[in-house]
Amino acid sequence: MKIVMLGAPGAGKGTQAKRIAEKYEIPHVSTGDILRANVKGATELGKKAKEFMDQGLLVPDELVIDMLMDRIAQPDCTKGYILDGFPRTIPQAESLDAALEKQGDKLDYAIDVDVPDENIVKRMGGRRACLGCGATYHVVFNPTKEEGVCDVCGEKLILRDDDKPETVQKRLDVYHDQTQPLIDFYKNAGILKTVDGTMEMDRVFEEIVQILGA
Ligand SMILES: [Zn+2]
Repeated sequence: MKIVMLGAPGAGKGTQAKRIAEKYEIPHVSTGDILRANVKGATELGKKAKEFMDQGLLVPDELVIDMLMDRIAQPDCTKGYILDGFPRTIPQAESLDAALEKQGDKLDYAIDVDVPDENIVKRMGGRRACLGCGATYHVVFNPTKEEGVCDVCGEKLILRDDDKPETVQKRLDVYHDQTQPLIDFYKNAGILKTVDGTMEMDRVFEEIVQILGA
């Protein structure tokens, strides 16, 4: 069961990826985590990656794929894995396919957690953060007892810049430009499964289980 997770920032794909990982006992492989682990462990690949990061440059795709292939060669990945955060672009997806193919391997599913932009903007716009203790809330899904005041420390709550509608929309625009083509890519490959991410999280997960099998 080799899965790639797709979905806009704020669509809830990370949460679903974790739940899939638990249920099917396969690792949730996040490229951010792999990169950090390699740099921290000062592996050959990690050292190379650090050279780019120290210069404020992006780590080249090739290096990320080498780390990824290294990770999925570990024994805990024999039953499969879920990739989260990679690939993000067509060239990355093509390189990943090529690297897998070299090992006679391929992806089984690309799961797209589909949520319209306006829903994401609304969801994010309802988030509130406490300036005092860092606690986070949501005006609809996780409200405080008293509006605008932190339950934990009594400080005022704010809407972070990151969660403001214009910031969220900008992030979504970048997502659509870059990652939307991936959806077509995996559709053509015949492995795309789209789930309606506007439903409650449990329902979204149920739909995913129906796709993957119980
Ligand atoms: Zn607080």
